[in-house]
Amino acid sequence: AATAPLLAVRGLEGWYGESHVLHGIDLDVGAGEVVTLLGRNGAGKTTTLRAIIGILGKRTGSITYEGAETIRMASRAIARLGIGYVPEERGIFASLSVHENLMLPPRVKPGGMSVAEIHALFPNLKERAKSQGTKLSGGEQQMLAIGRILRTGAKLILLDEPTEGLAPVIVQQIGRTILKLKAEGYTIVLVEQNFRFAQTLADRHYVVEQGRVVDMIENSRLDANIDKLHAYLGV
Ligand code: ATP
Repeated sequence: AATAPLLAVRGLEGWYGESHVLHGIDLDVGAGEVVTLLGRNGAGKTTTLRAIIGILGKRTGSITYEGAETIRMASRAIARLGIGYVPEERGIFASLSVHENLMLPPRVKPGGMSVAEIHALFPNLKERAKSQGTKLSGGEQQMLAIGRILRTGAKLILLDEPTEGLAPVIVQQIGRTILKLKAEGYTIVLVEQNFRFAQTLADRHYVVEQGRVVDMIENSRLDANIDKLHAYLGV
């Protein structure tokens, strides 16, 4: 029998106040997979991640993680299951050092990375340990935001546009890191504008349009579906 997915989202609807923005998101993520959410600006990709981690005010439908229903759980309880969220804006505290930023989120599960392991993954962070958060480049801030979540013990990592605004060489480094994490057994859901970058990493892609998942494309079938994808993305 097929094993149940690590994360299963069914009929997810979500609101900001009165504004109804998710209209039925359905997706599955298997343990150890890298899955992307693709779609135009405003399609609802970020809101989907926010709903999964429980920081969207109102959400209905079903989100299960390791079989446990989380739709009515508070964000802290969801984090304690081992789900980590790296927001697009990264959330680095300017007044704290790199090391202090790294130590900030509490551990939620045993087996989180040690500082030494995070430094091995991102050597820049070791060199910059005493620097203030704001002195970092965009790429270093992204590494810090990811490293900080890996320390918590989260095993499902939700990454919102980690490569946005970064130089190509840093984008490649982030890509290699994501593949390394996959090889270590992490599961990753990635919101990405750049589907050519996503193609180098992902197992599958979900296309989000107007608050719904409208398609799922296996990575091996991405090139065969390129016209369809261009139409979805309006490129
Ligand atoms: P982007 O790449 O632009 O972030 P996205 O697919 O991630 O696109 P979302 O950020 O999830 O899209 O936005 C989905 C819808 O929700 C959009 O119509 C957006 O304007 C709206 N929205 C996003 N954040 C808020 C908010 N804080 N309050 C009200 N509406 C919001």
